[in-house]
Amino acid sequence: MRKQIAAANWKMNLTLAEGTALMNEIVSNDITLNDKQAAVFAVPFPYLINNKSITDKAVNFFTAAQNCAAEKAGAYTGEVSMSMLESIGIEYVIIGHSERRDYYAETNKVLAKKVNLALENNLKAIFCCGEPLSIRDAAEQNSYIETQLKESLFHLSETQIKNFIIAYEPIWAIGTGLTASSQQVQDMHAHIRKVVANKYGQAIADSISILYGGSVKAANAAEIFSLPDVDGGLVGGASLVAKEFVAIIKSLKNS
Ligand code: PEP
Repeated sequence: MRKQIAAANWKMNLTLAEGTALMNEIVSNDITLNDKQAAVFAVPFPYLINNKSITDKAVNFFTAAQNCAAEKAGAYTGEVSMSMLESIGIEYVIIGHSERRDYYAETNKVLAKKVNLALENNLKAIFCCGEPLSIRDAAEQNSYIETQLKESLFHLSETQIKNFIIAYEPIWAIGTGLTASSQQVQDMHAHIRKVVANKYGQAIADSISILYGGSVKAANAAEIFSLPDVDGGLVGGASLVAKEFVAIIKSLKNS
């Protein structure tokens, strides 16, 4: 079985005290995850070390960064490098979230640099792709996603691509309460797997986790995660509520 992952994306929310209370409440539920499952918490940079001290105490729980710089080091005021993340023991990082693409003009080319830096620094990256509504309305989503993958990921070797997790997040479903239908989700996940298979072969495509993101919540997680090509979710709003996110983690496939 591919790794099944429930990834929380707190974005720019919560104080340190609120975040710590949320984590403690989630962890107090004694959720048992096997080695093919993971709960990943992408928290704001200032909380990483504290959060890691909590996730380190729970089996198969991990702390992630929400972003990182596209440069190695140097005069980039305010930026945080991949090597800094590695130096504090962080194992996961989100790359290419649509909010970064939209608000901070992160292009596929910039994201390819981040992808390389994640590899160099031994971080597992959750690489986000997803189309805006105009592209979906024009029925061009398949080629749009294919281009995002080709331009940022497909320069990697077969060995390297195995370190990546892909998150499909239709932009029109993020934070809107709109969820893609099960058919839309499965169709796109199967498409992504096919595109990866065409480039790297079926065995590698079958080993890569593809998460869905876009208004996942306790009430719809089990249905979405049960789809054959869905391997968990990247969750914004609902990850800020302990009861919701606990139920989402518990909805991961377990065999
Ligand atoms: C996200 O931030 O990646 C996301 C999917 O947000 P939400 O779950 O709130 O739609």
